[in-house]
Amino acid sequence: MRERVYIALGGNIGDVVKNFCRAVELIAQRCTLTKASSLYETEPWGLRNQPNFINAVIEIETALSPEDLLHFLQEIEDELGRQRQIRWGRRTIDLDIILFGSRMIDTIELKIPHRYLLYRDFFLVPLLEIEPDAEYPADGRKLAYFLERLPQQLRTIIGKKEDSLWKDTITSLLRAQ
Ligand code: AMP
Repeated sequence: MRERVYIALGGNIGDVVKNFCRAVELIAQRCTLTKASSLYETEPWGLRNQPNFINAVIEIETALSPEDLLHFLQEIEDELGRQRQIRWGRRTIDLDIILFGSRMIDTIELKIPHRYLLYRDFFLVPLLEIEPDAEYPADGRKLAYFLERLPQQLRTIIGKKEDSLWKDTITSLLRAQ
């Protein structure tokens, strides 16, 4: 069975947009890309004293299991040179599964929905851009409801970032599938 999955991309070192494009191209080799959000520039979350981040969310369809998808995304993170040591620290690319169909998963390795989904505007805003009716699987409440109530001090989004490489990469991947 193919499921609809939302993946969040984040990064703040190196050529982030180039890494995002490469990551989406690699993801599209095993999954079907169906939508991609704009890029958002955001203030660092957690550890503050570091460069701003870029974030985005993509929608894919996949026959992979959640665990296999996680491992596939981790291979891509490693290939793109992420340094894993520093929690919330600088990173080349971070790929998080934020929703997997309407599944609720709670293992040591994998929490779905992502454990911070309801607290991160840089997950919620790009997700709602591409799927305005997205719901929280546990109770069917609209994610827009949680975003409206997100306190100001948790808000990180500075604005959208226009980038022709991102637009062109997404357009050509959507057209190819
Ligand atoms: P991070 O450093 O924030 O990218 O966290 C990586 C770790 O989070 C990995 O060891 C994963 O096993 C774990 N993890 C738990 N839930 C998820 C999820 N929904 N998506 C990605 N990684 C997850």
